[in-house]
Amino acid sequence: MNMERYSDFRSDTVTRPTPEMRRAMAEAVVGDDVLGDDPTVQELERLAADKLGKEASLYMPSGTMGNAVAVKSWTQELDEVIVEARSHIYNMESTHMTFISRVNPRPLPSQRGAMDPEEVERNIKPGSVHLPRTSLICVENTHNNWGGAVVPLENLVAIRELADRFGIRVHLDGARMFNASVASGVPVQQYADAADSVMFCLSKGLSAPVGSMLVGPKDFIAHGRRVRKALGGGMRQVGVLAAAGLIALNAMVDRLAEDHARAQRLARSISQLPGIQLDPAEVETDIIIFGFEHPRLTAPEFLEALKVRRVLALPVPQGIRFVTNKDIGDEDVDSAVSAFQDILS
Ligand SMILES: *Cc1c(COP(=O)(O)O)cnc(C)c1O
Repeated sequence: MNMERYSDFRSDTVTRPTPEMRRAMAEAVVGDDVLGDDPTVQELERLAADKLGKEASLYMPSGTMGNAVAVKSWTQELDEVIVEARSHIYNMESTHMTFISRVNPRPLPSQRGAMDPEEVERNIKPGSVHLPRTSLICVENTHNNWGGAVVPLENLVAIRELADRFGIRVHLDGARMFNASVASGVPVQQYADAADSVMFCLSKGLSAPVGSMLVGPKDFIAHGRRVRKALGGGMRQVGVLAAAGLIALNAMVDRLAEDHARAQRLARSISQLPGIQLDPAEVETDIIIFGFEHPRLTAPEFLEALKVRRVLALPVPQGIRFVTNKDIGDEDVDSAVSAFQDILS
């Protein structure tokens, strides 16, 4: 399948590196990062920590490993971790909480990703002979499975305040925190202030080929470096990849607004078509999730019909997911809208 000929809405991870990234990768100054002397990785780790107003950061091969190292570093066996019921860390990361950290996840419902602080508080356990001890709360922003919803800063601050009262840590899965910031106008630093540690992805809307950053206090990152090595995530001349990460952070943030505008345009153009259950007002960033119920077509049949028309998207539990990204232009949105109209009306 020649992907160049498709309008690929499957994810914001499907982007190709920009020519500037390719050049920077070719010319990167590198060293052995496991031995601590890759200057390009060090520059990226410094930049990520500074942008978020935290002490230190660690370059990760994936967001999943970043989240797994965070959970492992903040918890002990016999602990419990409060998670949002639809969160990525709970549903989409191959159960690393139980597999690697051997802790018990406690999923709570939410309003579009925002857990009720009172309900969070009711679920905090001090630890006893019968009960686990709650040591960590995980939040997510933007919220992937809530259709890229921006979780309000006030909600995150309220959760952070009660966590502090109980001496519990907060980890922000900020895979798309830059999307949240661009959409809401809240600086990423303020989101980061509401958490002890943050993971964000360079490989999603920011368009780097590989990599995520785990950001937090110095001791936590120093420990996380050992956990990353134990999980097989120590990488050698990885400045070759970090060079693209630097461009992702320095040059690819502001353009996220274009992805959001295209997602909005697509949502508005398809929301009235037969079979599509979608409120365009709920599309806040680059992700569109809609329910699909059509008299003639199942969701898999609809996705197949789109594919024949060179439009790609993915099924999700709630229906179908479209994600805009750097390599989606206005013409791709037009093609998708025509394909929808063609198939459904
Ligand atoms: C993609 C994603 C991750 C994990 O990132 P990978 O690099 O794919 O492992 C974590 N959290 C959220 C919300 C994501 O969307």
